[in-house]
Amino acid sequence: MRLRTLDDLGELAGQRVFVRADLNVPLQGGAVADDTRVRATMPTLTELLERGASLVVASHLGRPKGQVDDTARMGPVAGLLAEILGRVVEYVATDGVLNAEVEQSCEALAFEPGRVVLLENLRFDPGEEADDRAFALRLAGLADVYVDDAFGAVHRAHASVSALPKAMLEQGRPAVAGRLLEREVAALSRLLGEPDRPFVAVLGGAKVSDKLSTIGSLVERVDALLIGGAMAFTFIAAEGGQVGDSLVEPDRFEDVRAARARAAELGVVLQLPEDVVAAPEITVEAQRHTVPSAEVPRGEKGLDIGPRAVEGFARTIAGARTILWNGPMGVFELEPFSAGTRGVATAIAGATAFAVAGGGDSIAAVKKYGLGDGFDHLSTGGGASLEFLEGRSLPGIAALEEAE
Ligand code: ADP
Ligand code: MG
Repeated sequence: MRLRTLDDLGELAGQRVFVRADLNVPLQGGAVADDTRVRATMPTLTELLERGASLVVASHLGRPKGQVDDTARMGPVAGLLAEILGRVVEYVATDGVLNAEVEQSCEALAFEPGRVVLLENLRFDPGEEADDRAFALRLAGLADVYVDDAFGAVHRAHASVSALPKAMLEQGRPAVAGRLLEREVAALSRLLGEPDRPFVAVLGGAKVSDKLSTIGSLVERVDALLIGGAMAFTFIAAEGGQVGDSLVEPDRFEDVRAARARAAELGVVLQLPEDVVAAPEITVEAQRHTVPSAEVPRGEKGLDIGPRAVEGFARTIAGARTILWNGPMGVFELEPFSAGTRGVATAIAGATAFAVAGGGDSIAAVKKYGLGDGFDHLSTGGGASLEFLEGRSLPGIAALEEAE
């Protein structure tokens, strides 16, 4: 399949382009705490504007669940977007997404290239998450061309990424991927196709249940799977290790045993941390010490991988030619439990491999340690990148593909 992109679009002067962006930024006290996602979609917005289009930009923000929620309005995003774009961004707080005023304002856009309208939070309308066709048809009425740049949302069958491009295509109007989405698909496809080997995946994070299907599919394709973070304890406990009060999911013991058996069958290295940093509580002041990972004392939790584990992981990473990293090795948000994540991230950044990181917290760690340059791609979509790497057809991408 071939993904249609901005290169497939003809003349754009005088055209109204609907851009589904991922502007789902973290807000703190009403202000945007991290502008990464807004900046990531700039290549698409500026290219479209330079080509003479006017824009209707739309995104979801948070989880308002189909209702108007004053804390999830797009106002702060509009301000930031205007600042970064260096132009006026027209945004009006509305009690819903669409009304006659919004529709009229978008209609006039055809005569005013360079104008940018930002719609209210798409999830204020229950039709968004329901992939509602009637809602999609009203959105389709706002523009002549559809561009999806919201990689973080392509795994969800929601109206703005699924029903809307279908409706546009049915009406003979183009629906294509923006530059960010194009870049995400290109980088992740390199891991899905025939990656240079050895292919090493490093997984961490809190819950193994979030990533079991990822583990199941990666084990079929990688040469080594390194597992850190709290999810390692479910693997260790399933084999009878003492994990103290570490985060474990006993209802997943069968699944992780199956994954381990499958890895053995395929000759895939499944590497768990040799040692961990344990403490009685998750605080900066807590008394911590390093223990073998299967000997965490009662009353303590494993909160980071230990120095020997970092060394072991780094050795495997150094030999890799393709690396995927998703999920921190410990509670890296707290300095005393950050050495594992930092050590592994540093090893990946220093490896001579094609290296991709995904997941909100993992990317935050890469940035915090200033290691971004050591990675070939930092994926802006956590859930979307994992589902893509499972080889699943994602609704938001399928709508933009055609047979070659
Ligand atoms: P990502 O956002 O990169 O996909 P996740 O959301 O899956 O990552 O996991 C990140 C969270 O996992 C972090 O908040 C981190 O504190 C937590 N975590 C990692 N290791 C542990 C651990 N040993 N115990 C408790 N929480 C952990
Ligand atoms: Mg996360």
